Amino acid sequence: MTKPINLLIADDDRFIRRSIIRMLGREDIFRIYEAESRDSVLDSLNETKIDCVLMDYYMSDITGLELMQIFREKAISVPVIMLTGQGDEQLAANIMKAGAFDYIPKSRLAEQDFAMTLTGMVNNAVSRQEEIEEADRAKIALELSEARYRGLIENSPILIVRFFPEEYMISFLNDQFCTYFGVQRFSVLGENILHLIPESNHEMFRARVNAISKNNPVARIELTTLSNNEEKWQLWVVQGIFTSEGEVTEYQCMGEDITDMKNTEKKLLLQKRYLQSILDSQDNMFIVADRNGVLEVNISFLQFFGFYSPDDMAKNFGRVAEMTVEMDGYLKPEDANTFWLSNISAQTGAGQYRLIAFRQEGSETNRYFSVKFSPLSIDTDIYVVEFSDVTALEERSKEFENRANYDALTGIYNRRRFLELLERGIKNALHRNIELSVVFFDIDHFKKINDTYGHNTGDDVLKGLSALVSSTIRHSDIFARWGGEEFLVLLESTSLENAARAAEKIRKAVMDYAFPDVKQVTCSFGVTSFHPDDTGESFINRADSALYRAKESGRNRVIGMRKKISEEEEKIHA
Ligand code: GH3
Ligand code: MG
Ligand code: MG
Repeated sequence: MTKPINLLIADDDRFIRRSIIRMLGREDIFRIYEAESRDSVLDSLNETKIDCVLMDYYMSDITGLELMQIFREKAISVPVIMLTGQGDEQLAANIMKAGAFDYIPKSRLAEQDFAMTLTGMVNNAVSRQEEIEEADRAKIALELSEARYRGLIENSPILIVRFFPEEYMISFLNDQFCTYFGVQRFSVLGENILHLIPESNHEMFRARVNAISKNNPVARIELTTLSNNEEKWQLWVVQGIFTSEGEVTEYQCMGEDITDMKNTEKKLLLQKRYLQSILDSQDNMFIVADRNGVLEVNISFLQFFGFYSPDDMAKNFGRVAEMTVEMDGYLKPEDANTFWLSNISAQTGAGQYRLIAFRQEGSETNRYFSVKFSPLSIDTDIYVVEFSDVTALEERSKEFENRANYDALTGIYNRRRFLELLERGIKNALHRNIELSVVFFDIDHFKKINDTYGHNTGDDVLKGLSALVSSTIRHSDIFARWGGEEFLVLLESTSLENAARAAEKIRKAVMDYAFPDVKQVTCSFGVTSFHPDDTGESFINRADSALYRAKESGRNRVIGMRKKISEEEEKIHA
């Protein structure tokens, strides 16, 4: 059962009230109240929640219009249905204008369906009223939330400003905004927002704001602003408010002071620049790296490898490996790109020195570097890798190595190096079962050359002869000065016969060569080949014996000698 409708029937004619009540009759739809004067109407409305008033337009102390007036003044919102006299359409129109819900001429009281008509009318009035009240409640709730929202905006530390696309006219700004910019709300409202932004930012600001569209509704703009004559950094998030057609009706902008952040950023940038310039002022190459790769490099590094910029380096870091030279005791090219990383990961690199050799593009010589890893004291996962150029040192040590291996006068191998290479040659011959031969030769009557032309000329002969022989023999032949005017050629994979032929070739070349001053010089040659029972010493001694025979038998000739099982050595003549 639905709630009965409280219906107030206001009529000073008791008879009419009675007849209406009788007609409406059914108590379960209406609970009926009665009033016969202005005051009793108002009393009833005060005492009871009346849902609808059915009122006679002409009551003895008040008219319908006057009552509507009172309702308005007292903010009484109850639907009113007026009973009007016959043929008074003008009055009816006025009643409706005054806010009555409906009217019904008294003449219809006599009609059969009056009760039904009136019931329908009251029902309509009541449900319309409910709708109105519902809408009012919603409106009140909305207003309340708007007020709360406004409170939020006003108390927000965020600067809020709204402006129109036309002339960027400011339509709203919160207290925070006014305080920040030191402006009065009413002096700024309606002004162009650009007036609050230094001119240097205008063009950028306009471009960014004008680029806002439905597809791209938000712009994050960093700008410098003046706050109480102090330059400040602000981040403004500008958002377009759009019509359904996608046109901007207004911009809402939330600003945040990022001056501190910017200053810190600036300081960090400055510090980074200091560090970079310290690194760049060093001649040595530096890399700062962590486990994942290179973080910083200095100019020396970039220049050495021909990188245009750190970005270029990041993209083409493979060049470091390409320029790395493969050498014993040095970092391998395949490790060159990762050696600092693996050193860091393994934690073995700290304080250690490694050697690496690079050859720059277009260069004929290597550059040698000692690489040192030092963890940063503030972050041991980050390493500073320093490359010290040790090329000069390396070249010095090469020179010492040369002195140890090469004869200073002639530039060919010395005896020490020859014996090393002989040992290696013998091992190789035994292991691979290949032939190995040696030619031992000595300049004929060299003493005489010295005596005749002087020691310096003798030296020149030794040098010239070494150069001549070097150009006569194979590249793989090992040519050494044994001492004085005695020389050796070790020939791998060569039979005694072929070695004797090579000796003969040298003999002819020397004999045919015209040395400065001295002109013709001749040599005597002893040749032998290695026997598995030989030692290095017995092998060379046999060659020396063959040479002795060559001298003995008239010089300027080649004598070959083969080791016999019987220990007797067989002579062969080339
Ligand atoms: P033979 O034909 O028997 O070999 O006679 P030879 O004079 O060549 O032999 P000998 O061994 O009597 O003399 C070798 C000379 O070579 C003696 C030495 O002064 C000279 N000699 C050794 N080393 C050098 C050198 O480095 N420079 C010069 N100019 N002479 C040297
Ligand atoms: Mg000699
Ligand atoms: Mg000699």
